[in-house]
Amino acid sequence: AAGVIAEGVSKQYGGTNQTQALLNVSVSIQPGQFISILGPSGCGKSTFLRCVAGLEKLTAGSLQVGQDPVKGPPDNIGMVFQRDALLEWRTIRNNILLPVEFAGKRKEDYRQRVDSLLSLTGLAGFADSYPHELSGGMRQRASICRALVDDPRLLLMDEPFGALDALTRDQMNVEMQRIWMQTRNTTLFVTHGIAEAIFLGDVVLVFCPRPGRIVEAIPVDFPRP
Ligand code: ADP
Ligand code: ADP
Repeated sequence: AAGVIAEGVSKQYGGTNQTQALLNVSVSIQPGQFISILGPSGCGKSTFLRCVAGLEKLTAGSLQVGQDPVKGPPDNIGMVFQRDALLEWRTIRNNILLPVEFAGKRKEDYRQRVDSLLSLTGLAGFADSYPHELSGGMRQRASICRALVDDPRLLLMDEPFGALDALTRDQMNVEMQRIWMQTRNTTLFVTHGIAEAIFLGDVVLVFCPRPGRIVEAIPVDFPRP
């Protein structure tokens, strides 16, 4: 697991609006921490994750993941979005193996890794199923497996359970805590749910809009099982 250091990160989008999405964001995230990110729509939460992933060019400031300054496209960073983006024509196993393929590694070497992730997320037995055979919650579990398959330095989750019904979302939060306790990935987790932010996070970062900046970094002292 890698830590993240942001120093004075600002991001202004081009185009006609010239939106200042982030202004002077500084934060230090320890390796293995679970960071919840809260804030109203449009306050730059997704932009911040994309900057950390190296998918956006900063207007000012610097970002470091582990020992390395963030420069180009993501280097083994797991990402999970609100929409699961599973490929419908691929089995669950072959969906989970996509990052392995992209990295040019041998899929055969990851057979056991996939199996253990499937059992970790309660999907044992679904390796050869297709995405349409799974419920929304199960599809997001498969997305989590895909994000974790190549042992990423960082796990970035952008409202991963936002499209699920309330009951499934609650179950997924409990599930997520269990997965994190096993893997101890450094995790940045964007959510609109205050309760789940506090339930899951070691620290809750509260973003404020216009322009996007961190107004609070609240350490959570909430007993874990
Ligand atoms: P959040 O994830 O908190 O809802 P975003 O990071 O998506 O916020 O957006 C922050 C601000 O930047 C918003 O005003 C949004 O409209 C703007 N924005 C996001 N992406 C782009 C883009 N690619 N081009 C121009 N403006 C953008
Ligand atoms: P796998 O390795 O899991 O069998 P592939 O990615 O090789 O899956 O795809 C299986 C087949 O589906 C290939 O013949 C591929 O060309 C085809 N395919 C590719 N894109 C699409 C698509 N958008 N919809 C349906 N089938 C597709």
